[in-house]
Amino acid sequence: MANALVWLRRDLRLHDNPALAQAVSDGYAPVLVYVHAPQEQGDWAPGAASRTWLHHSLIALQQAIAEIGGRLIIAHGQSLHELERLQAETQAEALYFSNLYEPILQARDGRVQAAFEQRGLTVKRFNANLLFEPWQIKTGGGTPYKVFTPFWRNASAQLSLRQPYPRPDRLPDFGGTGLTIDALGLLPERDWHAGFWQYWQPGESGAAEMLDIFCEGAIDGYKEQRNLPDRTGTSKLSPHLHFGEISPQQIWRRIERVRLSESAQADLGHFKSELGWREFSYHLLHHFPDSSDRNLNPQFERFAWAEADPELLSAWQRGRTGIPIVDAGMRELWHTGWMHNRVRMIVASFLCKNLRMHWLHGARWFWDTLLDADLANNSQGWQWTAGTGCDAAPYFRIFNPVTQAERFDPQARYIKRWVPELSALPAPVVFAPWTKPAVSAALAPDYPSIPVADLAESRQSALAAYSRR
Ligand SMILES: Cc1cc2nc3c(=O)[nH]c(=O)nc-3n(C[C@H](O)[C@H](O)[C@H](O)COP(=O)(O)OP(=O)(O)OC[C@H]3O[C@@H](n4cnc5c(N)ncnc54)[C@H](O)[C@@H]3O)c2cc1C
Repeated sequence: MANALVWLRRDLRLHDNPALAQAVSDGYAPVLVYVHAPQEQGDWAPGAASRTWLHHSLIALQQAIAEIGGRLIIAHGQSLHELERLQAETQAEALYFSNLYEPILQARDGRVQAAFEQRGLTVKRFNANLLFEPWQIKTGGGTPYKVFTPFWRNASAQLSLRQPYPRPDRLPDFGGTGLTIDALGLLPERDWHAGFWQYWQPGESGAAEMLDIFCEGAIDGYKEQRNLPDRTGTSKLSPHLHFGEISPQQIWRRIERVRLSESAQADLGHFKSELGWREFSYHLLHHFPDSSDRNLNPQFERFAWAEADPELLSAWQRGRTGIPIVDAGMRELWHTGWMHNRVRMIVASFLCKNLRMHWLHGARWFWDTLLDADLANNSQGWQWTAGTGCDAAPYFRIFNPVTQAERFDPQARYIKRWVPELSALPAPVVFAPWTKPAVSAALAPDYPSIPVADLAESRQSALAAYSRR
């Protein structure tokens, strides 16, 4: 039986993995390879939190492969060079892999494909991680969509789920001498991430378990509960999806089997549309390849962002702004590697609008600290909130962090969980401690007494700057 290299990247799973399943069904013995090449991702090489997830995800994959007799070969260096070396070693006749969509990686993959094909080897590529290839959905005029609702209306109408790809029962072991996962040096020296793993189980079985938990609980009521940060009202599948430990097709098929009441059908539709936002983010990144670094809306090219004051930025990063809901979100991120979507919007709006710092300062911090850091979703999330995106929040929508907290965390449970210095403050003072300085000084002496920005003043000045853009 001839060998084929199966180059795994962000499709770190055995079930529903098109590259792997197709190599097997084409009659090849698959040689499973992971090449670590962060330098090929330019300015957006994986951040610290993401690397810790990758470390554990690779271990889980390696174990799953070993359980069916195979071996994951780990390499480190330049992708093309390592793949050519392994091709020569194994005499592989073909290369199978699933697409990545970051522009710099698409270009790299194109070069790898061309080099293999030039030497007469077969190359097959697949879509493993999206419902649609980002170039597939087009307006009537053949142009990309810039607004989510019509994009998703068109996409949903075209969706027909493919059959799941089968997981191989057995895999061959080629022996050979790959690197160990430890040798990739993915874990930082300081183990600030140690606390993460009480919340997360990287790998394919962790993803399946998370999906089961969601289907047995939070999917019912998702539309409302997804906005409440003090409870698990969402799926928490984002890091699993980012690393391709589960595919959106697997999720879609599974949620459609959940028996929901008539009234909960809206929850299902809403959850599907969140998967749709993910598709839309990839669509935008593909068609606007600069959008990870530049404003999608060119009117913002000369916008008067504030000089990034390192102290202010650090107060935001560390959760010491004096605005409780903002601080709670930033600390949830630091302690768990994840932040609730509603709170992501609040902290992002605070940074870009109240502190008027360029959204890239926030995007970079998220990139380094989020376990689900994903170039398409992160860029889109930041541009949407900053108002610089295509289908962005209008510039005059400036989240008021006090009213947002009152509405979405009415008992202040989320705030008090992540900012324990505030636990003795009663509502409504806990949402805006500076408004009752004597009470706050007595009951929350360790919390900043004055917020880093006056909410009303900074809102007015942001509105003025945004309307002049
Ligand atoms: C400023 C900002 C930055 C963000 N950065 C990222 C990021 O780096 N990586 C990331 O995966 N998401 C990002 N998001 C989107 C969103 O916050 C997360 O996807 C979501 O919180 C993940 O939690 P969940 O899996 O429980 O979501 P659920 O509500 O269960 O949704 C299911 C899946 O749908 C997708 N999804 C949900 N909301 C969005 C959205 N608004 N945009 C795109 N896809 C979405 C995710 O893949 C998610 O796992 C960002 C949002 C904002 C406002």
